[in-house]
Order: sequence, then structure tokens, then C-alpha cells
Amino acid sequence: MAFTRSASPVAAWTTLALTIAVTAAGPRPDVSATRVWSPTPTAELPMAIDVSAATLARITPGDHLTTPLPGGAARFIVTRRVELGPDRFTITANVDGPAPGWLIAAVHGDGFAAAGHAGVTFRVRGAAGGGRHLEIVDSETLEWCSVSDDVATRRVDEMGVGDTPADGGCDDGSSIDVLVVYAAAARIAAGGTANLLAEIDLMIANSNEAYSNSDVQTQLHLVHAREVSSPESDLGLGSLTDPADGRADGVHLLRDAYAADQVVAVVSGGGGVANGMWTLEPDMADLAFCVSGRDSLPFIMTHEVGHNLGCCHASGDGGGCPDGGGLLFPYSNGHRFTGLSGTLWRTVMAYSPGEWSPLISNPAVLFDGKPTGVPGDTSSGADNARTINQSAPVVANWRCHDDACELLDLPPDAADCDGDEIPDLCAIAVGLGADLNDDGVLDACQCLTDADESGATDFVDLLLVLAGWGPCDGVCPGDVDFDGEVGFTDVLAVLAAWGPC
Ligand SMILES: [Zn+2]
Repeated sequence: MAFTRSASPVAAWTTLALTIAVTAAGPRPDVSATRVWSPTPTAELPMAIDVSAATLARITPGDHLTTPLPGGAARFIVTRRVELGPDRFTITANVDGPAPGWLIAAVHGDGFAAAGHAGVTFRVRGAAGGGRHLEIVDSETLEWCSVSDDVATRRVDEMGVGDTPADGGCDDGSSIDVLVVYAAAARIAAGGTANLLAEIDLMIANSNEAYSNSDVQTQLHLVHAREVSSPESDLGLGSLTDPADGRADGVHLLRDAYAADQVVAVVSGGGGVANGMWTLEPDMADLAFCVSGRDSLPFIMTHEVGHNLGCCHASGDGGGCPDGGGLLFPYSNGHRFTGLSGTLWRTVMAYSPGEWSPLISNPAVLFDGKPTGVPGDTSSGADNARTINQSAPVVANWRCHDDACELLDLPPDAADCDGDEIPDLCAIAVGLGADLNDDGVLDACQCLTDADESGATDFVDLLLVLAGWGPCDGVCPGDVDFDGEVGFTDVLAVLAAWGPC
């Protein structure tokens, strides 16, 4: 029971002014004296926000984040901090008090993004032109998402209700490897790469918090985020999913290079769309794609990946889900419920009305004093947590985990000299291209046979090979295949590449 809350009425907020300060749980007065982020005092919404990254860097579980609001201070207690790399981490907190609420923040170098609920749902993110802004999110007006395809008629329920997929795959299901791609438009809308990367980390953290809250036994793991050369218009669900339509096809190569089980395109604008998984057949691996609009931060990726994991909306919500409810299983439905506080909540997969909550429907987990799902094996049930626990061991095996590229920790704009969307260093690491001269650039992009660097492979280069014949000791211009010896293979290479570079 990971996420049970006692209940009391939620204060009515009279204004939207919001300031966040931090106090330490233990003897850390230097932290308590410093605000983490604060609005420009007189600004209207969305208001500019200054972030104290140095203070954020010192927050640990047990610390308190106090939010002085006109209706009464909201106090969060930090529950989790996940280190993702140098100057890169996420923080998760719950309201420390009777009214339910939550906070998730992500720091990625100079980038920052946060979202939470304390009577109102709010978020902090970057903006085009620079700076960061605090926005109040109206859950009722941000409608979003559709499930693609005719899932209502194609659902087959290959497995019996409650069955768990047979074991024997390469990955154990505890982690689903996710590749995120985006185009320049999303980066510009976020005010730069660092902010967008923080938003992506926030979306992943939101998913993992929802899973943890709801006893879902898997976590999303971001293996790479890359800005692709395609225009954002090529990142629609259809063109993203199709590996050979001439639009963003390189994303499929990138997915294989990073061995990603799941691919998410983050786009500017709001809403999202996903392929709904209606069966656990192996060919569903080809449909593990979804699109998430950053204007629907922070829940949209959790929602769309949920469809890829077999979850659907609350029964009756529509949006491409079967009329009778369910998707992978009859009970694969989201849920809305009124908590003891009087707040109408919705789990991540349910449509409005209702305030978003970092929850996957699960009848065994309480939030705001009420069950977050409905028990049962039929379509009257609402148990997407059970659904993901059944599908994750299969989805985690869409690709066998291979961190050869991930360990390179490449930036989203790492060099890709041949334009196939796979960064050169990654392609070299997984054997998709040679780098005989060990310079980190694919040989295919270079003219290694142009020994005199004249711009062409010609007679002068052949003479250099002949002049240097024999074992190479030191610098050997004639060793154009970099095998440590100038010989017949170099002659063949020069002749094969004869002509302009
Ligand atoms: Zn949806």
C-alpha cells in the first residue's frame, strides 16, 4: 500500500500567487534559508521563475519544501531523489499534511522543470525566448490523447485473464528502456535543449512515481534523448511508427542501436497519441511508439506509454478505447473517484473531469482515502496496474538490453556524419560502421584512401603506398586501411576508391 493518504478538506485558493521555499528536515539551516525557486513578485501568470540550482542540488529525502500560498502553506516532504548523472537528478515529494498533493522536479544541467498539486495543479517549465515560467494547469481544459487504430475490433485477449507471460526473455521486466526523440520545434518551444531534457526527465520521473505509488513492478529507463533532423511534422504517430515511409525512418535505426523497448516522440503543442497494445504477440514490438506533447506536461508521456503497455481510458471515455472498456485485458481501464477531501481525481489514464494524480488505477491502493481502481476481471474492473504488471515483462523484451551506446552518454545533438540518425560514436560502438583510424568519425564519412589529403584518391596516393611498402613504424600515410602495414590491401583500397572524395 504505497500511497495511502488521510483526508481533510482542501483549502480553497483565492489567488494563484505561488512561492516555493525549502526547509531542511535535519540540521541543515543553510538549506532552509534559501528559496529553491521563486516567482517575480508582481508578475501575472505565467510568471517568470528564478531557480536556485545550487540549493536544489542539496535537497535529499526527508527535506521539506514549503509552499506559502494564500489559502495556507503547503508543505511537501521529499520522498525520493534519483541521480541520473552529473548535475542531473529528479526529486519527488508528497504533501506533508492531511490534504493530498505531490511535487516532482527535474534538474538537467542548466535545465529545470517541475510539476505538482497543492490545491491547484501547477508546473514550472522553460519558455521560447528564454526564462522559466510557473503556470497553473487546468486539468479540465487540457483534453488530450487518442488511441490509434481499430483496437475495439482487433483486441483478441490471447492470454487468459490474470495470466502472466511465460518467462524466458532476455530482460526480467523490472525496467523498460525508452528512447525519446524530438525535433527542433520542441527544443525551441522549451527555450533550449537543457530545459527540454529536464522536461523529458520529469515525464519519466512522473511515470516512475505513478508506478511506485500504484504497486506497478517496473520502471521506465531513459536510454537516450535525441534531436532528430526530421521536421516535427514527420513525428506524427503514423510516420513515426512506419519504418519505411521516408519520414523519420532513422528513428527505427536509432531505436535498434540503443536497444530501446519503447520510443516516445516529444513534440511542441499539447495532447498525444499512441498505438494501443491489444495483444502481447511479438509483432506488437513494431508498434511500441507514441507521441507526447509538452504542453500536456507532466502526465502525457505516462498516459501514452500506458497505451503502449495495454492500458486504456476510464470506461466510457472513448478516445479510441473499446466501447465496452478494456484494452489488453477487460479490466485495463483508468479510473475517476472522489476522495474524502471532496476532490474529484483521475488516474493517469482517465480523461477529464478530475484532477490529475500520479496514479495508475489499482483497487488495492488508496489515495485521498478511496480506492484508486475497481476490482474484477471483467470490463467493469479498473486495474491498469495489474495490466502493466502483466505486460511489462513482455514489453521489456521488445529489445534485449544493450547499453553500449547509452554508456557513451552522448548529447542529443551528437555528430551524425552520415545522417542516418545514429550518432557516429554509437554506430561505431555497436559495429554499424568502421572507424579504422580511431578518430570517432565513421570512415564512411571520410576519405581514408586520400593519403595526401588532396581531395581525391589518385596516382599520388598510389605512389605513397608504394613508397612506404612494408611494416608501418610510426606515421605511415600509405597505410590507408590502418592495419599497421603498407601493402597489397592498401593498393586495393586506393584502386577501389579511385576518384574524387
Ligand atoms: Zn489516451
